[in-house]
Amino acid sequence: FYQPQVRKTDHQIVGCEALIRWFKPDGQMVSPDAFIPLAEYTGLIVEIGDWVIAEACRQIVKWECEGLPPIRVGINISAAQFREPDFVSKITNNIAETGVDPARLELEITESVAMEDPASVARQLQELKALGVSVAVDDFGCGFSSLGSLNRLPFDRVKIDRAFVRELTPATSEDCIARLIVKLASSLGLQVTAEGVETDGQALLLESMGCEEMQGFLYGRPMAAVALGEWMKERR
Ligand code: C2E
Ligand code: MG
Ligand code: MG
Repeated sequence: FYQPQVRKTDHQIVGCEALIRWFKPDGQMVSPDAFIPLAEYTGLIVEIGDWVIAEACRQIVKWECEGLPPIRVGINISAAQFREPDFVSKITNNIAETGVDPARLELEITESVAMEDPASVARQLQELKALGVSVAVDDFGCGFSSLGSLNRLPFDRVKIDRAFVRELTPATSEDCIARLIVKLASSLGLQVTAEGVETDGQALLLESMGCEEMQGFLYGRPMAAVALGEWMKERR
């Protein structure tokens, strides 16, 4: 599934995030929160993740062939995937095989991944960036947030954790924290996306802080690739 990301100022779709869904034979959907931790535990996440990357690359090319606007696609990368010694070459191969423009790819990693082995993570991120792929730090602010990692690692984007957006009303501690994250990110020259935007009030407050890009049910839920294609056509 893919969830749209919208630029608040002109309501243009700028990107989407690939979010895996598992449908059981009876059609029942299993949430990633239920099976990703298990896949991480068993190590199966590497194969699942490989499939997600390949599928997302193919989908980007497909949308482009349909004449849809070129958008960025965020792909969630687990620690185990990122730790694979051939991770960067896998990305290189996917780019070569599908012909996808690497500028359309944005890999999302969490702070905990970034902090595991900062030197090797920095090297890997540099290699990815040399390919033309961008990198976002996901769920920022909810883990063991290291401000140093934002400074040392070559991230392009910070995604504000949904926990802060959910409770966002003026003059609350969530307001202060979200404002600080936006300010910090933009001072460091990073882009910011807020996750989990559900109300106009949250969107307006985030916009007033200088956060331009929004992802959340207010704009669109995660949907099948075909549905997102239709969604983009309708909005055009
Ligand atoms: P995430 O990467 O932080 O993704 C954002 C989550 O927030 C998604 O949950 C999305 O559906 C949800 N969300 C977005 N906007 C709203 C909103 O306005 N309200 C609410 N209540 N929720 C919103 P989802 O799809 O259930 O995915 C959960 C987590 O599972 C993701 O969090 C990510 O950590 C993981 N995940 C999903 N797909 C993959 C994947 O392909 N690979 C890996 N490694 N992890 C994945
Ligand atoms: Mg994510
Ligand atoms: Mg997130």
